Amino acid sequence: MKIIMLGAPGAGKGTYASKILAPELNVPHISTGDLFRAEAVSGSELSAKIKEIIDKGDLVPDEIVIDMLKNRLGQDDAQNGFILDGFPRNMEQAKMLDEITDVDFVLNVRLADEIIIKKIAGRRICRKCGYIYNVADIHEGGIDMPPLLPEKEGICDKCSGELYQRDDDAEAIVRDRLKLYYEKTAPLIEYYEKRGIVKNIDVNGGPDIMRPVILKLIGKA
Ligand code: ADP
Ligand code: ZN
Repeated sequence: MKIIMLGAPGAGKGTYASKILAPELNVPHISTGDLFRAEAVSGSELSAKIKEIIDKGDLVPDEIVIDMLKNRLGQDDAQNGFILDGFPRNMEQAKMLDEITDVDFVLNVRLADEIIIKKIAGRRICRKCGYIYNVADIHEGGIDMPPLLPEKEGICDKCSGELYQRDDDAEAIVRDRLKLYYEKTAPLIEYYEKRGIVKNIDVNGGPDIMRPVILKLIGKA
């Protein structure tokens, strides 16, 4: 199965893709943000440039993104399907993807901006394996999102890696990323709606609550 996750930064795309969809469907979770964060610390020729762009919350130029994505989709594990998270992020990228593959579903993850800002402030990520935790405890507007805490504070349960907060998760930068999302990425919802493949996910809880909802949407429950 080939799935695109759409939705604002912090809405939950990465969490649902990695904790629910990828294990259930047995296809890789391909996050362009994760790929760029890895590139930024790899010491490659592009590292410094990429780090500067992502720390500011800007978009990496399309040529670089498209190159990286084509390469990733060409790998063995992606031949039976994939979950794309963070790509496509604008119309040019969507058109490029159309040239290389079709997709079965676009899952549009929806969450109010004020909640997103609180949630991103609480996001903690494992430096080693990328597993996502959250220290925020949100109960408002019909939403129940208890924290997703590691057993030992600051340490990943999966690999004992150190948990950190992304530089681009600072509130001012999150507001810029949201603006960029509404300008460049949100129009893709309509682009895919014309094909009848968009499924909206209104987030009202953590992964445990959302799991059955999401599996039902893709016909797996
Ligand atoms: P989020 O979904 O939380 O905004 P991501 O982890 O998807 O964050 O992306 C982090 C950063 O990586 C983005 O702010 C951007 O700089 C860069 N990036 C990721 N995917 C793309 C893409 N498809 N096109 C351009 N830049 C990207
Ligand atoms: Zn880890």
